[in-house]
Amino acid sequence: MTSGSEVAARAGVVYLVGAGPGDPGLVTARALELIGSADVILHDRLVGAGILDGARPDAELVDVGKRPGQATVEQGEIEALMVERSRAGRSVVRLKGGDPFVFGRGGEEAEALAEAGIDFEVVPGVTAGVAAPAYAGIPVTHRDDASAVAFVTGHEDPEKPETALDWGALARFPGTLVLYMGVRNLPLIAERLRAGGRDPAEPAAAIEGGTRPGQRCVTSTLAKLPGAVAEAGLRAPAILLFGAVAARRNAIAWLERRPLHGRSVVVTRARAQASDLATILRGLGAEAIELPAIRIEPRLDSPAVHDAVADLHAYALVCLTSPNGARLLFEAMATQGRDARAFANATVAAIGPGTAAALAERGVTADVVGERFVAESLLEALAEVDVRERPVLVARAAEARDVLPDALAERGARVDVVALYETVREDPDEAAIEAAAGADYVTFTSSSTVRNLLAAVGERFPREARIVSIGPITSRAVREAGLEVHVEAERHDPAGLVEALVADAAEVGAR
Ligand code: SAH
Repeated sequence: MTSGSEVAARAGVVYLVGAGPGDPGLVTARALELIGSADVILHDRLVGAGILDGARPDAELVDVGKRPGQATVEQGEIEALMVERSRAGRSVVRLKGGDPFVFGRGGEEAEALAEAGIDFEVVPGVTAGVAAPAYAGIPVTHRDDASAVAFVTGHEDPEKPETALDWGALARFPGTLVLYMGVRNLPLIAERLRAGGRDPAEPAAAIEGGTRPGQRCVTSTLAKLPGAVAEAGLRAPAILLFGAVAARRNAIAWLERRPLHGRSVVVTRARAQASDLATILRGLGAEAIELPAIRIEPRLDSPAVHDAVADLHAYALVCLTSPNGARLLFEAMATQGRDARAFANATVAAIGPGTAAALAERGVTADVVGERFVAESLLEALAEVDVRERPVLVARAAEARDVLPDALAERGARVDVVALYETVREDPDEAAIEAAAGADYVTFTSSSTVRNLLAAVGERFPREARIVSIGPITSRAVREAGLEVHVEAERHDPAGLVEALVADAAEVGAR
């Protein structure tokens, strides 16, 4: 570890941080640590969606790229803001798209901080000029094709006499040319390079929104790229690339080969759990749109929870019916200074593999695990466990079905039911509803997500989307809401749902 790592943002220090090109997976570990601990975050417009999600809820977030009713914030103003906030004893993250020192004015900001005598740290980021080509299947260097790469700004008007760029020298540059901010000037740039002697037949590419959902890439030749880009309607932010390596895309393009490439999938789980499902989907190439319809509200203060936890050692059987239940039971235990040893006398049952995993993370191996994440399946698995006259605890959500406690009572158990949490409706934000409007798939992982999403979005439900349900109970809720279930998972957990979705996508074919 370097000295800079694993230290949260410090008071009075400014961090010039690269946020990468857009894909949240391309943010460095150091950047995440600082975003999660800073008092103030001054960020650019180009910072990708989701990257600020980890900021502290009480952090001051300032969009210095654009402010409502105001033009872009002046560079001097940004520098003044950094100085002022850090002098006030706050930790400040200045978050910039890509790398802060590659066409990001990070150099100027560092100079201003040095001059003001303010302590600062620079956190490099993955720059768009490397990442966008990489996601398009274009290596910027290659043993056979390019032993050098130049990063160039295409922002300057190539016609203006005082241009800092020597286009003739760039035309002769023996390697790959990567241009930032060049789309608008592309016709002039291509013309200048040709005039400087660059081969008009040289392979060329333009990549719009690299590493983001909906990334687009056009390949052509130096001479024909302006026409191809205009025809495809590519716009900023885009990277232009000139060099033999562009032709390698044919063989290397990998993004497009992923099973869910080009598909947008709505995830309706609670925010805290949505991200693992969204991560799996993104890994398969999908654009995952998080539209949480529910929120988990812990209910750990009730006397019932208190008593159940205090008496945990007295139960012969403890049943957990969700990963949230497992997590919250341990939280309740912690408030009474208890740990996994409280289960020493009990048979521990988990409704499915996800709940068993949540227990395992906390040092408890479930004795009985349901196969299918439904009460009926757990009851089957519990057939061998003698519960007659014995105290049983069912720890679960307030709104859960009574199938499990009823059946256990019928088998003669003395059943206590405690509600550890309640699932309440979350009203999704407007931007997320809009993003979901054209989605290819909507996933439902519980009946509460179905009911609450429909209550929240009503007529704006994406009617064209195919609906994927995690299992029969969720499917029933979908049908009760007057919608069709297109895909139902065979295994009733997130991995099973994804598997079913991928199979459907392969069948339905590309959009
Ligand atoms: N500091 C940034 C660059 C800032 S200049 C970096 O290191 O990446 C802004 C230009 O970067 C845009 O005009 C565009 O050319 C490029 N750019 C930024 N993000 C991009 C992306 N996701 N895809 C393609 N180009 C991008």
